[in-house]
Amino acid sequence: MSKLDVIFERCIGCNKCQEVCPFGAIEMRAWEPGEVSAEVAKKSKQKVVILENCTLCNQCMDVCPTDAIVLEAQLTGGTPDRESYKGVWVFAEQRNGAICGVSFELIGEGAKLAAKLGEPLCAVLFGHGIEEQARELLHYGVDHVYYVDDKRLEHFSDERYAETMTHLVRRFKPNILLTGATAVGRTFIPRAAVKLRSGLTADCTGLDIEDSTRLLLQTRPTFGGNLMAIIRTERYRPQMATVRHKVMKPAVRRQEIKGDIIKVELPDSAKRTRVKLLQTVDEVADTVNLADADIIVSGGRGLGDPKHFELIEKLAKVLGGAVGASRAAVDAGWIPYSHQVGQTGKTVCPKLYIACGISGAIQHLAGMSSSEIIVAINKDPEAPIFKVATYGIVGSLHEVVPALIQRFSDGR
Ligand SMILES: Cc1cc2nc3c(=O)[nH]c(=O)nc-3n(C[C@H](O)[C@H](O)[C@H](O)COP(=O)(O)OP(=O)(O)OC[C@H]3O[C@@H](n4cnc5c(N)ncnc54)[C@H](O)[C@@H]3O)c2cc1C
Repeated sequence: MSKLDVIFERCIGCNKCQEVCPFGAIEMRAWEPGEVSAEVAKKSKQKVVILENCTLCNQCMDVCPTDAIVLEAQLTGGTPDRESYKGVWVFAEQRNGAICGVSFELIGEGAKLAAKLGEPLCAVLFGHGIEEQARELLHYGVDHVYYVDDKRLEHFSDERYAETMTHLVRRFKPNILLTGATAVGRTFIPRAAVKLRSGLTADCTGLDIEDSTRLLLQTRPTFGGNLMAIIRTERYRPQMATVRHKVMKPAVRRQEIKGDIIKVELPDSAKRTRVKLLQTVDEVADTVNLADADIIVSGGRGLGDPKHFELIEKLAKVLGGAVGASRAAVDAGWIPYSHQVGQTGKTVCPKLYIACGISGAIQHLAGMSSSEIIVAINKDPEAPIFKVATYGIVGSLHEVVPALIQRFSDGR
């Protein structure tokens, strides 16, 4: 049986582990002379010793405020009993009680992984009074929804979410855990990964199961988008990844339900927090909802002047779409960053994407190439954007865009 270990450099001697241990398996002993540095001995006056009767119930790990207690094997050989980790979990992110779109995309992708592995697909939902949403998730083919309902989870808190997720993972042991690469996902899931002593692959654009090893293959751009890296988490569980919005196809809602809801209490470790929520303020400056737009008209450096964004805005308006931009246009200060599409901007997947005066650099393509129809307007017939375009128009945008505005206005 694997044992717990104590990282003395982290221990602050608070005694909480000893107080919570139901088996009396933790003792405080005096340091041997020279055993640790003066600095460590100053932080913790006594040495925490885990005794043989420890049952690995994890309660001390949950309560330790500095994550000083860890599974010994995790420091050396990876997660012990990793074969017993089963199931593909998707974190179902909710905002104001509504499930975010990225969660359905993860469920769609998670279903493929679960089918390949022959393991269950589960969703994890945190919130308060949103059982309806937990039930709604069952319409997307998940086998179980782990639902933690508590007033303290009504609004996002990275500490509480990380503690709650850590608790669930330790208890139910999923093989794979997927989270949206959203502000919420990017904030709390790295904390959980550290607590679980697992790894985390951020910003994946592709996921698959390797036939020979049954490991999760996590694909993500690297070196400024010039290379795609495939990452495997061989020894640690769960295999954790965040995935960008709009990269994967969402699961389709079905009428029938096959799964169930498993309610879990908020763990004690998530009841306290060092952060107090005073107020939430909606950002009013960022009015562009690019990620959800069906039609996007984007402008790049080829516009030549910021005032020519008027053309892009007019075309977007006449089509009922949103305005996007390349980073060159944003860096030039022609349009705010919230409009930027690409690797360091937003990932979009509209039905129609019109790129005007955009060359098609790999970093721009990383954010829009999965659009259903791409129309490129560029005066250079060799521009790389034409390689991904469904329809290409070679010509000056100053002639083509006004003609399109005219044509679409006439047709209304
Ligand atoms: C780490 C990193 C991250 C990055 N992230 C992003 C990102 O998120 N998004 C992004 O967009 N870029 C990103 N970039 C920058 C990217 O590499 C390109 O520099 C950028 O996309 C170029 O923008 P552009 O196509 O508007 O400009 P250019 O490459 O200069 O292209 C302008 C195009 O306009 C055409 N043109 C000129 N005049 C006209 C005309 N009158 N009519 C029609 N066409 C005309 C030209 O033929 C040319 O093809 C990133 C770069 C790095 C290194």
